Amino acid sequence: MKAGVVIPGKKDSAQLVEIDMPVSSSGQAFVRLLEVGIDGTDIEITRGEYGEAPPDNAFIILGHEAVGQIKDPGTTKLSKGDLVAPLVRRPDGCVNCRSSKSDMCIEGNYRECGIRGTHGFLREYLVEKPDFLVPVPKELRNIAVLTEPTSIATKGMEQAIELHNRSANPINIAVVLGSGPLGLLTTALLRLQDFNTYVLDIVPRSSPKVHLIEAIGATYLDGRESVVTALPQKLGNLDLIVEATGNSTVAFQAISALGLNGILCLMGVSTGEKPLEICADCLSMQMVLGNKMVFGTVSSNRGHFERSVQSLTSMEQKWPGWLSRLITRRLTLDKFRDALDPGPDNIKTVIELT
Ligand code: BGC
Ligand code: ZN
Repeated sequence: MKAGVVIPGKKDSAQLVEIDMPVSSSGQAFVRLLEVGIDGTDIEITRGEYGEAPPDNAFIILGHEAVGQIKDPGTTKLSKGDLVAPLVRRPDGCVNCRSSKSDMCIEGNYRECGIRGTHGFLREYLVEKPDFLVPVPKELRNIAVLTEPTSIATKGMEQAIELHNRSANPINIAVVLGSGPLGLLTTALLRLQDFNTYVLDIVPRSSPKVHLIEAIGATYLDGRESVVTALPQKLGNLDLIVEATGNSTVAFQAISALGLNGILCLMGVSTGEKPLEICADCLSMQMVLGNKMVFGTVSSNRGHFERSVQSLTSMEQKWPGWLSRLITRRLTLDKFRDALDPGPDNIKTVIELT
């Protein structure tokens, strides 16, 4: 079968290869992969900045956002034809991993399919235990590939809202920094709960991203007109800020912009080593006197995947067709290298495996 692979640490090493078909052992289902989404992490891996091959392998099969269909359920309770989204993390033996919370792994020996130490889903077939396969209803077939990125946003927003609940004042204003797939999916989750949501980016108002933001009742802010630190003056007390650009300077600006009792959720990964000069006293004092909280979030567990599927269903009902507009490009597997070089108006590229 065909697979899209990269050599971690080696720039531009992405290539299509022919590998052996997997063979399922007892308790595993045989899955035909249908689609794989490409994100910033895949691009970083391709640039040689991130990623780790499985032991004794020179390359890793890319792809961690996927939807597949059960070809042979074997002895599992799944049925032939079921759609499934595979989980990304594979646990180590730590207390969190043993409690179905590998997203909170404390020992750090977890593996991540297509990212770290185990192969991903950019291939035609997969064998997997049902514990790592989350069922997706057939009605979501077109957008089911968004289950994984939505699960990342789900984990972040569940925690942010729970943390904000330490104070009695409600979240009146939420700001999402960045309108990439993660920023847009986070915005949709916030709008499902009717939060007054603003999205800041530096794209022109004619961009399809702005149309998507406005279509779900959020407000676009052009970051070239108003910088992050000027937002409180414009909007008032910022109760929740979600950093989804991966720009560490923006993350620190967001701490200053955060309102009283505010929660800042950091989701974007910055792989560089960029230094920044800040007023440490000012930031520290603002955080203390403002009861501000900053937290980072990575990965997601089975519960987040399941609630992601529920939210995708609600989004389809509330804004029919909106999610499919996030998928701006579909490519065949032999063209997967083109996906690693997205244009400015591109939102999500999906590789079709059938
Ligand atoms: C993936 C997560 C993963 C993270 C760090 C993200 O792109 O969606 O599942 O934990 O990268 O490797
Ligand atoms: Zn662990």
